[in-house]
Amino acid sequence: MNHENIKNKEYFNREYEEYKKAGEVAKKVKEYSKKIIKPGKPLLEIANEIETKIEELGGKIAFPVNLSVDDIAAHYTPSHDSKEKAEGLLKIDIGIHINGYIADTAFSIDLEDNEENKKLIKATDAALKKAIENANENIKTIGRKIQKEIESYGFSPIKNLQGHKLEKYNLHAGINIPNYDDGNEKKLPKGYYAIEPFSTNGAGSIYEGKPSGIYILKNKKPVRLNRKILEFIENYEGLPFCSRWVVKKFGKKALFALNRFEQKEIIKQFPQLIEKDHGKVSQSEHTICLKNNIEILS
Ligand code: MN
Ligand code: MN
Repeated sequence: MNHENIKNKEYFNREYEEYKKAGEVAKKVKEYSKKIIKPGKPLLEIANEIETKIEELGGKIAFPVNLSVDDIAAHYTPSHDSKEKAEGLLKIDIGIHINGYIADTAFSIDLEDNEENKKLIKATDAALKKAIENANENIKTIGRKIQKEIESYGFSPIKNLQGHKLEKYNLHAGINIPNYDDGNEKKLPKGYYAIEPFSTNGAGSIYEGKPSGIYILKNKKPVRLNRKILEFIENYEGLPFCSRWVVKKFGKKALFALNRFEQKEIIKQFPQLIEKDHGKVSQSEHTICLKNNIEILS
């Protein structure tokens, strides 16, 4: 092996170790989350506890924990003054990074002892398993396996939400993994991926709802006012952050700064993603390392 190869190999090993560490933290945080989530508990408390746990375990938060109930498929995180409570079919989507290498993982729980909820969860768990087993097939095959599995439970996959490639400080690194057969004959290049089937008893697609309070930095531009707040945002290295974190650090006046930054297109806010027919939605997600073999990291 020549010098370049050795250097490359060292780099990939280091990258793998960091992803692996992020995944280990993710596993523990998931176990912890299952213990602390109870019906009727404020989502704000749950979010704070989960995010605190990530840091206690030596991880960094890759995005605000998403706690989406029922027909909200994704992009819901409690605001600083949220009164919402855990109920219904709750999706817990957690992101952890170690030096920018991200583990993105999600699970769903039924908080109202409802058979339909439990079946929806089984459907995405089974679909995720099938997708991972087939991650070295072409992309349309992975999508078809997800779709078939979810449909076998009598539900629909959400077609306009996808799994995605992960790269350093980049949650959506260009390549998507569909939740249906999209006809794409290509295979996934080796790398790290988040696979995330969503199942619903609704229409099988989402629309963009209310603003979520989750943002990303879009364009770095010099500002005259609120420099400290912008610096705080820049520390997230382009990963998502939320108004709750900014208010915690700077108080409620910071909401005006976020508004201003959004108008100036310095930051971009994500909308909540709502199921079109207001069907219930479940989600299961794992981060995998795809080489010749397939390893679940989260
Ligand atoms: Mn996720
Ligand atoms: Mn994801």
